[in-house]
Amino acid sequence: MHTSDKKISIYDTTLRDGAQTMGISFSTNDKLIIAEALDRLRIDYIEGGWPGSNPKDDQFFREIRTKNLRHSQVVAFGSTRRKILSCSKDTLIQALVESKARYITIVAKTWDFHVTHALNISLNDNLTLVYDTIAYLKDKGRAVFFDAEHFFDGYKANNDYSLQVIGKACSAGADMIVLCDTNGGTMPQEVETVIEKIKHGVPVPIGVHFHNDAGMAVANSLIAVRAGAVSIQGTANGYGERCGNANLMTLIPNLVHKYGYRCSAGHSLVHLTEVSRLISETANLAHDERAPYVGGNSFAHKAGFHVSGLQKNTKTYEHIDPALVGNRRKVLVSELSGKSNILFKAQELGINLTNRATLPAELLRKIKKLEEEGFQFEAAEGSFELLIREATGEYKPFFKLKGFRVISEMSGSTKLLCEATIKVEVDGVIEHTAANGYGPVEALDHALRKALEKFYPEINELQLSDYKVRVLNEKGGTGSAVRVLIDQKRKTEHWGTVGVSTDIIEASWQALVDGIEYMLFKKKEHSAKRKKP
Ligand SMILES: [Zn+2]
Repeated sequence: MHTSDKKISIYDTTLRDGAQTMGISFSTNDKLIIAEALDRLRIDYIEGGWPGSNPKDDQFFREIRTKNLRHSQVVAFGSTRRKILSCSKDTLIQALVESKARYITIVAKTWDFHVTHALNISLNDNLTLVYDTIAYLKDKGRAVFFDAEHFFDGYKANNDYSLQVIGKACSAGADMIVLCDTNGGTMPQEVETVIEKIKHGVPVPIGVHFHNDAGMAVANSLIAVRAGAVSIQGTANGYGERCGNANLMTLIPNLVHKYGYRCSAGHSLVHLTEVSRLISETANLAHDERAPYVGGNSFAHKAGFHVSGLQKNTKTYEHIDPALVGNRRKVLVSELSGKSNILFKAQELGINLTNRATLPAELLRKIKKLEEEGFQFEAAEGSFELLIREATGEYKPFFKLKGFRVISEMSGSTKLLCEATIKVEVDGVIEHTAANGYGPVEALDHALRKALEKFYPEINELQLSDYKVRVLNEKGGTGSAVRVLIDQKRKTEHWGTVGVSTDIIEASWQALVDGIEYMLFKKKEHSAKRKKP
């Protein structure tokens, strides 16, 4: 690792550039939750949005002032004044002032082609607008960052003009110049060359803003820092238009743990995974489990010989300690598993198998057989734990199924309605109930809960959070086997279970029952622990 004393500031634009992601629509409350999470991560600047452009952003700037962020500074984003209006008459410039943000980022074009063809103004007019807007806001006592839009493309097309725009911004008092790769197509060596060339002519600190259209946003940010930039812009989880922006969840750990740069967020990296997941959830997007550092699979090991290597020394298959970024090691159980995975997994669950000579090998045989049938335990830890606990004799089923029947009915234009009847036995008592649902699985789930609630009232706290079906041998057509994966949760805990059958209802039933059994087992285990003196 090369170390450096250089301090890098991190500028987050999740709430503005990240909000451009397909499928994201932040409410004001979502934005406040994200800002507070970024503050916990000690991100230096949080760009809150574009005041005056929509009521949600205005409300954000009003409400964030009441939140007492401990570290982060809130930044308002806007463009240069309109050509026909002075700053004092331009409502968007006034909205920036009224946002009361102490930091303001002003964006303007530095690519001549964009000035004349998109803005339809003269190159000189653009310089005047840049100067006026920055000078006006400086006069209002604000710190101003200048976003040089399309800088790398503009520099390639007409380096003289792009540097003139930057020069104007500096002479108006800009506190930082941010070089943007707005189209995201610039390569790392170009970034390095350009920054090396221009840095001595720029009298203020240089920041960078990269889009990820060529998959280079993180690499470009890192090389820019090595070439002289001291501030990096990016978004949580790499959100952003098209292919996204530089992913701060990858960038910050690289900056700190691979290059040894200092940054405030470097002291809060143990919160990284938690903040990343919280933001995925707030954005209502599936968390990227393959993301570097913060994914569920970032430190997951599947091959048996990897796991036996890890047991000797974790460095064998991990580039850093997952705890440094608030993540954890995960050992997957699969047909690639060896006995070491089973032992490791059991140990993680607090089960000691070392004295049970033949059990690990027996379990491995059983798991391999189930996997041949189509079961998969990587995302079904609940089913896996029950399997082990059953083998050790700790777990016995909480109820017995005596039978069920499901009827689907569709008449005329009404929605399909299903009814399930079910008979279960708990401690010799038979319970027979019926319930409806908008599908056979839902009807069955309702009927089962209704039958069990009298014996196990906690079943009402159980929620079904995900349901996935995968056809296993597609050539079999409608006679194919299916695998059902179900995710259930109770309070803050969640667990996955699995079922396999040629009948989708039966596969769903297996997964559903495992999920309920798992919850009841955990509850019993928990109260047994509490009763122990
Ligand atoms: Zn951008």
